[in-house]
Amino acid sequence: MKSIHFYFYALLIVGVAPSLFAATPGPLPPATDQQLGREILKELVETNTTHAFGSTGLAKAIERRLVAAGFAQKDIVVLAPADHPTKGNVVVRYRGKGKGKPVLFLGHLDVVEAKREDWSVDPFILTERDGWFYGRGTIDMKNGDAALVETLIRLKREGFVPDRDIICAFTADEEPGGDANGPDFLLMSHREMIDADLAINLDGNGAVTKDDERFYFRLFTSEKTYVTYTIEATSPGGHGSLPGPDNAIYRVADGLGRLESFKFPVMLTATTRASFAQLAKLYPGKESADMRAVAASPPDVAAADRLSQTVLFNAQLRTTCVATLISGGHAENALPQRAKATIQCRMMPGDTAENVQATIVRVLNDPKITITLDAPPISSPESPLTPQLTERVEAVVHSMWPGVPVVPVMATWFTDDRHTRSAGIPTYDLAGVWLDTNENRAHGRDERVGVRAYDESIEYTYRLVKAMSKAN
Ligand SMILES: [Zn+2]
Repeated sequence: MKSIHFYFYALLIVGVAPSLFAATPGPLPPATDQQLGREILKELVETNTTHAFGSTGLAKAIERRLVAAGFAQKDIVVLAPADHPTKGNVVVRYRGKGKGKPVLFLGHLDVVEAKREDWSVDPFILTERDGWFYGRGTIDMKNGDAALVETLIRLKREGFVPDRDIICAFTADEEPGGDANGPDFLLMSHREMIDADLAINLDGNGAVTKDDERFYFRLFTSEKTYVTYTIEATSPGGHGSLPGPDNAIYRVADGLGRLESFKFPVMLTATTRASFAQLAKLYPGKESADMRAVAASPPDVAAADRLSQTVLFNAQLRTTCVATLISGGHAENALPQRAKATIQCRMMPGDTAENVQATIVRVLNDPKITITLDAPPISSPESPLTPQLTERVEAVVHSMWPGVPVVPVMATWFTDDRHTRSAGIPTYDLAGVWLDTNENRAHGRDERVGVRAYDESIEYTYRLVKAMSKAN
């Protein structure tokens, strides 16, 4: 999960109406499972899986736990790319009655680097303090991994037989800087092992609280696509004392000025439409009316313009592009021969790199500025919000936390979901941990999860896995 998860919702919720749902505690798992869930979280957090260490050791530890819990060795496979032996993944298959294609659960094992001197506690020791568990990965996302491992062990102990196979893939290299992404590797080289009817990821915190009240539960169906361009202009150069009309720095700067004042057209997806319609019930007054008008078909353009003044709604309403790096010239006293800039874009699902590039060219409006695509984007389609999926998710969420709104959401960042979605497996992020809108520690210092929130997430995960393993 990318850290912007938290910024987004922290800011989204500023100035909203009070929630109707007081944070009454949700149900806990049985005491043995609560204890086991905490033990597993401790093992996961205390096994360093930053990119320097890799995930193979932890993948093997999970394998050992599951074998000890009665899983057949043949149903658990630890796999790493031949050229990245430390970037291991573990795939476990919980066999069902064969009624339909399996359901896949995803969890990444890698974590972002954390330095002891930056933290108030050791980031690689699970520390309980004032109702919180501190440690790297307690939110992103060893909490989800641990809850999933605990659930597998509990289901096995209870003798549960699902309608269809449950596959759990604990994977490498989701976080930036990784070079052997697990889901990508598994899909490319062992597709049959994780092929599924749908996938559920438990990355991050699915649910947001505000002022100690449950606000809403997020059902992620889609994400924006990350794509980067470089623009460049050249000019004759020369002595700094003799400036002429053709200057690469001014060309690029002027082009960027035009880009700054440009807005891509409003684009709604099934998810963002549903999202605004639901959020309209949670926001007060004018914003609520604008959200309703944007969710209408066709969307109200004036309402979209007003909502777009909020950075976070703007990002939900359109493809965005922004200048993030700039360089040019070669000497203080020389005319520049070259200037370039990086333009970083987040495309709406359905938008294309070709369309965005053509739009940038048109807006730059200077044939002497060239544009190149840095790398082909990994775009992913929106996963459908089917009535069956929505009903199942709502039933699980409401069995845990009655009355909480379940809001479909498009992420503006990217996750591993893009790999399974683009491979044709509808994927939903449904992490079951509640966290305050102002919490913003994933990837940062003193990352933590509420002890109560974590314990409840163990029970939630158990209920979710059972519900999702039902035949269609
Ligand atoms: Zn994550």
